[in-house]
Amino acid sequence: MTALLEVEGLVKHFVAARSVFGRPTAYVKAVDGVSFTVEAGKTLALVGESGCGKSTVSRLVLRLIEPDAGIVRFEGRDLGTLGANRLRAFRREAQIIFQDPYASLNPRMTVSQILTEPLALHDLVPAARRRERVEELLRLVGLEPRFARRYPHEFSGGQRQRIAIARALAVEPKLIICDEPVSALDVSIRSQILNLLHDLQNRLGLAYIFVSHDLAVVKHIADRVAVMNLGGIVEIGDAEALFAEPRHPYSRALLSAIPVPKPEAKRSRIVLEGEMPSALNPPSGCRFHTRCPYVIARCRTEIPLLLADGRRHATACHRIAELPAPGAIVPADGG
Ligand code: SF4
Ligand code: MG
Repeated sequence: MTALLEVEGLVKHFVAARSVFGRPTAYVKAVDGVSFTVEAGKTLALVGESGCGKSTVSRLVLRLIEPDAGIVRFEGRDLGTLGANRLRAFRREAQIIFQDPYASLNPRMTVSQILTEPLALHDLVPAARRRERVEELLRLVGLEPRFARRYPHEFSGGQRQRIAIARALAVEPKLIICDEPVSALDVSIRSQILNLLHDLQNRLGLAYIFVSHDLAVVKHIADRVAVMNLGGIVEIGDAEALFAEPRHPYSRALLSAIPVPKPEAKRSRIVLEGEMPSALNPPSGCRFHTRCPYVIARCRTEIPLLLADGRRHATACHRIAELPAPGAIVPADGG
C-alpha cells in the first residue's frame, strides 16, 4: 500500500547573510535531508525544540515554500511536477491549523463567513446549502450552530481553535498539519482539543502531521513519531516503541523530561548541557554532539546516518549498539 504522503530527502536552506555584492555568504540549514511517510488515517508526530525545522517541513509539505531538493508525493503524485490546477486540488486535500487560532482567524469576519469562505472558494457546496453545512461543521467540532453569527473575539482560546479546525474540515481534507495546535492553550483545555482531533480522525479517516515541541502532548495521538534536531530526523518509529524505549540520546533526553505518574517507573532525568546550537552554524559531525552525554571523538567529525534498527524504526547515532538501556547513564569517554 502506498502511503498518503511520502517525503524523501527534503532540503531547505535559507540565506542568512549576503556579501556586499549580494552573494549568499551564510545559510540556515533549516531542513537538511528529511524523509518520512504518513499513512492515510494515521498520525505522524514531528517533535523537537523550537528551531529544529519542523515548521519549515510543514510549509514544504504544503508547498507554501519550495524545497531546494527532495520530493514530496501525495497519493503517489510528485507535488513538484503538478500544474496550477492539480496544486489547487492538493491545497484542498491538505490543510493546516496553527498554534494561535486568534491570529489565523480574521477578526472582522463572523464564524459563518469564516467557514463559508473555503466552501465558496473551492465551490464545494451549493450556495443554498452553505448555511446548513456551516452548522454541521460547528456541531462536528463541538460548538453550537447559533455561534455562527458571532465574531472570533467572542470566543475562548479553545473555542477559537475549534473554529479553526472546523474551517480546515470545511474542504474535506485527507491530511491536516497541526502545527503546535494546543501550545497556546490553557493546560486544562489541551486534552479537550487533543481528544477532539483524535475523535475527528477516527470519524473522518484524517491523517495528521502533528508538530510539537512537547513529546507529552503527542503521546496519545501519535501512531508514528519522528524526533527532529537541527534540521534532521534523529529517530523515527512507532509511537508505542519510541515511548517505551527511546533509542537516540536526544529522544531519551526529551522523554526523560516528561513527568511520569507512577513513581516506581521513574526514569532518571537526562539534563541537556549547554544551549541548543544554532542552525546557522550547526556543529560538525553529529549535530547533537555538543549536548550529548554519550559523545565520543567520532561524533564530532562523522555525520551519523539514519539507519533502520528494526523494521519500522530508525536511529541516527554512531553508538546505538553500545548505548545502555534507557534510564541508565554512562559518562562520555572524554574523547
Ligand atoms: Fe551522541 Fe555521538 Fe550518538 Fe550523536 S552520534 S547522539 S553525539 S553518541
Ligand atoms: Mg489515532
